[in-house]
Amino acid sequence: MRIRVRQLDEPEMALVEQVVDTLIDHPRIGDIAVVSGALLKDGSTELSADVRSRKAWTCAEPGLMARILTNDLPPVRTVVAACLDRRGSPRVISPCGSCREMLRRWAPDGWVIVSESNDSWMAVSIEDLFPFYEMWPGA
Ligand SMILES: [Zn+2]
Repeated sequence: MRIRVRQLDEPEMALVEQVVDTLIDHPRIGDIAVVSGALLKDGSTELSADVRSRKAWTCAEPGLMARILTNDLPPVRTVVAACLDRRGSPRVISPCGSCREMLRRWAPDGWVIVSESNDSWMAVSIEDLFPFYEMWPGA
């Protein structure tokens, strides 16, 4: 199986910067561990943070997709998520399995930005990040 990857273009680099800046600058940073962002097909961007409580948390990506669907926004072109590591440095992170399945359902021809190293990223096809989706009942 061949996984489609490519270098980021300028709008995707700007999306990473926007997500990292939001993560660092947010006044409720102690309550927010992950910020995700989407570059939409019209060039606009949307952001969301994860929501945590003592008993549960919801990843940032479902909130992001809920905003997009609820507001009838254009389809997703690219998604990225970032968190702060133990030293407070931002890190681009790969979506969890549940979010990969959700993105495969709602943004099947989109891309996800993942880390190659601490300061180098690449885009991976959502379709390739969650393969064999069509084999699920009801997919
Ligand atoms: Zn997740």
